[in-house]
Amino acid sequence: MPIAWLTDVFLPQLEFPALVFAVALPLEFLLPASRDRSYRALGFNLVAAFIYLFMTTLLEPLFAQVLEPARSRLGLMIPVRFPDGVIGSLGQGLAFFLVYDFFYYWWHRGQHRMRWLWVQHRFHHQERWLNVTTVHRVHFTEDLFRIFAILLPMALLFDFKPVTVGWVWTILTLWGYWIHANVRVRLGLVGKWISGPQFHRFHHTPEHMNRNFSAFFPLWDRVFGTYHHPEPNAFPQYTGLRVESDGNTLRDAVAYPFIEWAKALRRVAGRQRGAARR
Ligand SMILES: [Zn+2]
Ligand SMILES: [Zn+2]
Repeated sequence: MPIAWLTDVFLPQLEFPALVFAVALPLEFLLPASRDRSYRALGFNLVAAFIYLFMTTLLEPLFAQVLEPARSRLGLMIPVRFPDGVIGSLGQGLAFFLVYDFFYYWWHRGQHRMRWLWVQHRFHHQERWLNVTTVHRVHFTEDLFRIFAILLPMALLFDFKPVTVGWVWTILTLWGYWIHANVRVRLGLVGKWISGPQFHRFHHTPEHMNRNFSAFFPLWDRVFGTYHHPEPNAFPQYTGLRVESDGNTLRDAVAYPFIEWAKALRRVAGRQRGAARR
């Protein structure tokens, strides 16, 4: 691995998450939604975040190789134009988040519904002590699949104004930290429209894990019948899966989906051999 790649490309990717964690972790300590915490698990999440950021940075050139040719071959399918100026920029940003969240909603719901996607998403849900670091407790192959489920349709729908890209990208990056934070913040009725840590905390409980799939707008959960409105003072202490371990092993962080996909392929191959013999 070239040293220049490590120092010039990868290490700068760690600065933003490190800064957010440095601000958010003391806040979580002062105003926790759940006092239940484990420093060992927190340390493990930092290792998982490192693996996730390393692998996604490594794979990033591949993303462009899918998105750019598709965009130049197919062009903009629905080139919605927004006027110049602040209003146009805000309008485009809002439209972007709404449409992005629509694709995200169905992708996320699919992850919970289909076994071959769930094996990839399970690691995120094994988090027993939900907190800001959970945002990067994600199997890196999720990002590969998201290219096709979310980024590709978005690239074909949106043409960004240069002034919009910066702030939209910043919010998009920060939002994941916000909704995973272990903070006692109530949004009240606003929470019906904008997602927050309480909304997403319910998604991480065994009882409500098939609810609250949206990332930005609970609207999509309300439209498609999966919305759970948090009771005003409800901050579930228990997150994670009902019977499984906290998943804090490298096997869960890296190998698990590959093991499960290989088993599934072997089952399919076995069935085909059986059918051919009949
Ligand atoms: Zn989920
Ligand atoms: Zn989550």
